[in-house]
Amino acid sequence: MKKLMLFAGLGLLVVLFFAVDLDRYFTLEQLKTSQAQFATWQAAHPWLFAISYFLSYVLITALSLPGAAILTLAGGALFGLWQGLLLVSFASSLGATLAFLASRYLFRSSIEQRFSQQLTAINQGIGKEGAFYLFTLRLVPLFPFFIINLLMGLTQLPTRTFYWVSQLGMLAGTIVYVNAGTQLAQINSLSDILSPGLILSFSVLGLFPWFAKGILGLIQRQRVYAGFQRPQQFDRNLIVIGAGAAGLVSAYIAAAVKAKVTLIEAHKMGGDCLNYGCVPSKTLLKTAKLAQQIQQAEHYGLANTQVQIQFQQVMQRVQRVIAEVEPHDSVERYTQLGVEVLQGYAKLLDPWRVEIKLSDGSSQHLTARSIILATGAHANIPAFPGIENSGYVTSDTLWERFASLEQAPKQLVILGAGPIGCELAQAFARLGSSVTIIEKAERILAREDRAVAELAAQALQADGIQLLTAHQVLGFEQTPTSKTVLVQTPEQTLAIPYDQVILALGRKARLTGYGLEELGIPTERTVLTNDYLETVFPNIYAAGDLAGPYQFTHVAAHQAWYASVNALFGQFKRFKVDYRVIPRVTFVDPEIASVGLTEQEAQAQQIAYELSRFEFAELDRAITEGTKTGFIQVLTVPGKDKILGVTIVGAQAGELLAEYVLAMKHGLGLNKILGTIHSYPTLAEANKYVAGHWKRQHSPERLLNWLARYHRWRLGSTQNLDKGKR
Ligand SMILES: Cc1cc2nc3c(=O)[nH]c(=O)nc-3n(C[C@H](O)[C@H](O)[C@H](O)COP(=O)(O)OP(=O)(O)OC[C@H]3O[C@@H](n4cnc5c(N)ncnc54)[C@H](O)[C@@H]3O)c2cc1C
Repeated sequence: MKKLMLFAGLGLLVVLFFAVDLDRYFTLEQLKTSQAQFATWQAAHPWLFAISYFLSYVLITALSLPGAAILTLAGGALFGLWQGLLLVSFASSLGATLAFLASRYLFRSSIEQRFSQQLTAINQGIGKEGAFYLFTLRLVPLFPFFIINLLMGLTQLPTRTFYWVSQLGMLAGTIVYVNAGTQLAQINSLSDILSPGLILSFSVLGLFPWFAKGILGLIQRQRVYAGFQRPQQFDRNLIVIGAGAAGLVSAYIAAAVKAKVTLIEAHKMGGDCLNYGCVPSKTLLKTAKLAQQIQQAEHYGLANTQVQIQFQQVMQRVQRVIAEVEPHDSVERYTQLGVEVLQGYAKLLDPWRVEIKLSDGSSQHLTARSIILATGAHANIPAFPGIENSGYVTSDTLWERFASLEQAPKQLVILGAGPIGCELAQAFARLGSSVTIIEKAERILAREDRAVAELAAQALQADGIQLLTAHQVLGFEQTPTSKTVLVQTPEQTLAIPYDQVILALGRKARLTGYGLEELGIPTERTVLTNDYLETVFPNIYAAGDLAGPYQFTHVAAHQAWYASVNALFGQFKRFKVDYRVIPRVTFVDPEIASVGLTEQEAQAQQIAYELSRFEFAELDRAITEGTKTGFIQVLTVPGKDKILGVTIVGAQAGELLAEYVLAMKHGLGLNKILGTIHSYPTLAEANKYVAGHWKRQHSPERLLNWLARYHRWRLGSTQNLDKGKR
């Protein structure tokens, strides 16, 4: 309401301005004619005159009315260069800021809701370079003053920045106009003031900060190398440190484009994903799911089906599967692909030199024009009191440690209810463990929407898992007969007994021990890189879990493309890593898969959306499979079929998501999914049905009413028309 009144008030002032023909006073001729008259008033009341002039200027600019240029000339003509400059400079900046604020107050939230995605990118640019953009726009007189005020108001540029950059940026133009005003008699038209030469000079001046920034960047890029001796020649085009997903893909690409590349791995080829992460965990989940399905066999009409878990065989299968996948990441395969693979521990000696302590005890030094760091992450082990004697395992150690157990741990405690914690909890619960999850947040899977996390919590509880959310770990205690985790809630302190405890409290990038500290490569939670994945040394790149912000195998591989292409061809063209469409799957049962925005993210970022939802309970194939739990939820731009985000909870959610990942990547909307044939009866049909749900929400009601009338008319009797109405 307030907005509406302000809008109406401002609108009224603008209408009045034109209605009473005030604009005719803001012409060069009128100014010249009235100059003597103004001078008389000024002589009689100098202060009042100056204040009135200042306020008129502020009002004209704040209302975005035409006349600022004439008023600026008047400033020079009536007050002289310096006083005129002072008045105009402050009045114009103040007026511009008021216009900026009005535009922000009146329009920003609705524009943000409609064009959320476009504005996100613009605001990111403004966040980084807003002052530069504005300065350039202010200096180059070709960009209209009032449009800049109004448009900038729609962005997230801070008001203070807008004010001071405007004042500074407009100064040169203001001087020119005020100065011209001091010789008003000689000006015949406004275009006399700005000659093409002057416009060009201003443009150069406006672009100067960009040149300066570029040159400064270049100098900074070179300065980091000061004190290091660049080799005359290089042994390799590229050295890649770490043979996990990021390192393997980087080396693969380099070899594919015929670069001389060395890949160095200190431990196991394939890194975390193959040896401790995705592959073993999904293998375990498969057996666990099978066990659970067998237990439910009666539901499918099968009797006498008792599951006997042979835990050691289960763990052996995990190792067999790893061994089966291993050849994909093996030294032999990569050597065949043209990669030199060295097994040893790599350390950066300087920006181009790497020392490798080879597994056979010898060492080797290599130089490379570019280096990609892909050293991954390790399990986070907080310093809880008593942890050192707790006998804890992490995903890095459990596969080996549990392999010797005859049975799944009886009392298993898992700290952390993120994806890894939840997956392992469900797997071991289904394999016979009594599992307790301890999580300090008030719910599990914090990244997911509340409804999704609740569904997952119900599924875990149905498997017998005890969920202790909002429980803070205090430490561990051991007696000769028992081991316990001490946890605290607002009400009480509890001791939870266990015979095995898994820490699933996140993974930390590997940042020490291989030269980052010595070279002064900045790190926070990860190695800091720019949009091109360059570290502070432009020839040293980082990818995968080491670079963050996502910790997924597919993101590591995605980054590897950017890191290797930029490393090898960056002198011609560099590519900014694109994180727009990142899918993620948590492989609990039912699976949780998402891409783009979740509902809670859209709300937190104040992005307007429409929600379409389809329940698997309505899908024929889900009914035949007995997998009715779950839903697909799609967020779209209001009034459009453009997909902002998708969350799927249900059987095969990870597979079903692929269609949306493709759609989002290539800008296909729900109409396209609806127009695509999906085989019957498949789970994938759900993707089409949710699109159908969206379509029904947007059906053209008026047209359909007319069609109804048309069809009734086609029935052949006006009576039918009347009946239809009733
Ligand atoms: C239990 C678990 C389940 C997971 N499940 C999934 C999943 O389902 N889907 C998914 O997308 N992601 C999953 N992940 C995450 C995934 O494993 C990681 O995101 C991925 O492995 C990261 O790859 P990377 O190349 O960055 O690092 P890594 O795979 O960790 O590879 C880094 C390599 O660098 C080597 N190295 C380190 N320092 C040196 C050095 N100085 N010299 C030489 N070599 C060195 C290490 O030995 C290691 O092999 C899971 C992780 C875990 C722990």
